[in-house]
Amino acid sequence: MAAINRAKVVFECTECKHRNYDSMKNKKNDPERLQLNKYCPFCKKHTVHKESK
Ligand SMILES: [Zn+2]
Repeated sequence: MAAINRAKVVFECTECKHRNYDSMKNKKNDPERLQLNKYCPFCKKHTVHKESK
């Protein structure tokens, strides 16, 4: 029941387009697409990861 507003999201690197991170987000708290600065093992550096559908 606590899962009603939770949605699975995938974060992909905006530089190499690899999908590096899976996460859950709260739709109510985060209705917009998220962007995170995360380490990309393919670019071997921190890059912006965008939520992808
Ligand atoms: Zn990358």
